[in-house]
Amino acid sequence: MKIHAIQTGSVRIKTAQVEGRGHGLMRRISVFTDRHWTNWLPTYAWAIEHREGVILVDTGQGTHLLETGRSLHPYVRWEVRFRIEPEQEVGPQLRALGIAQHDVKCVVLTHLHMDHDGGLAHFPQSKIFVTRGEFDTARGWAGRLRGYLPNRWPAWFDPIPLDLGESFGPFSASKRLTAAGDVVAVATPGHTAHHISVLVQSGNTTFFLAGDTSYNEELMLAGCVDGVSANEQISRATLNAIKQTATKFPTVYLPTHDAGSAARLARSVPSV
Ligand SMILES: [Zn+2]
Repeated sequence: MKIHAIQTGSVRIKTAQVEGRGHGLMRRISVFTDRHWTNWLPTYAWAIEHREGVILVDTGQGTHLLETGRSLHPYVRWEVRFRIEPEQEVGPQLRALGIAQHDVKCVVLTHLHMDHDGGLAHFPQSKIFVTRGEFDTARGWAGRLRGYLPNRWPAWFDPIPLDLGESFGPFSASKRLTAAGDVVAVATPGHTAHHISVLVQSGNTTFFLAGDTSYNEELMLAGCVDGVSANEQISRATLNAIKQTATKFPTVYLPTHDAGSAARLARSVPSV
C-alpha cells in the first residue's frame, strides 16, 4: 500500500480562520474583520494505492476557483484566494503517477468545501462517497448561501451516501472502506457538522487523512478550534479524540493544508 500526497495548487485565508479568535459568534466574525492573510498553504488530495483498488481522498482545487473574486458570496469573494494551474488539478497529476481514471475505485470526500470537491470532474466513472449530512448541507441554493459551490459540481454528480455505523476508538461513528478493514472513514465533526477523516492502517502506523479537522498539526495538538467551525465544543472533542489516538498509537497526522504534511507522510513521522 502506498499513499501519495497530491498538491492541487495552494490557498491563502485569513489568520483568524486558521486559529479561531474569541468565542461564539465573535470567533466567526473575526474571519471577516481580520486583515491578515496566511502564507500560501498547500491543498492536498490523497491517493491510496491499495490492492483492492485506488482510493482517492478529496479531489482538491480546480482552476474554476481562480474566479472566486467575482462571487457574490462575501466569504468566497473576500476571504479566500487560490492558485492553481490546469496541470496541477488531481486528474493530470494522477495520470503522471501512472494512475488512470478507471483505476480509481472510489473517491471519498472529507467534506464538500470548494477546495476539496474542485477536481470532481475528473472522475465521472468512479464511485463517489459523501456523508448524507454533508451533501444535504452543501446542495442547492441553501448550500450556496453557506459558501459551498454546488453550481460547480459536474452535472452527473450524484454521490453515494456514506452512512457511518459503529464507533471506532474515540470516534463516535465509522465505516470500513476496504474489505481488509485497513482503510476506515471516521466521523470528525467540527470544521463542518458532517466532516469525516480517513484512517489508513499500515503495519503499526496509522496515517490520518484529516481533511480540515485543523489546518496544521500544532493546532490539533493544542486543541485549538478554527474560525469557521459552528460548534466549538464539538470541534474540540474531535481534536481531543485525534490527539488521544495519536497518544496511543503511532499516528501520522495529515491535514489538507499543513505545509508539513507531505514530509511527515514521506518519513512516517508520528505526531506524538
Ligand atoms: Zn474546509
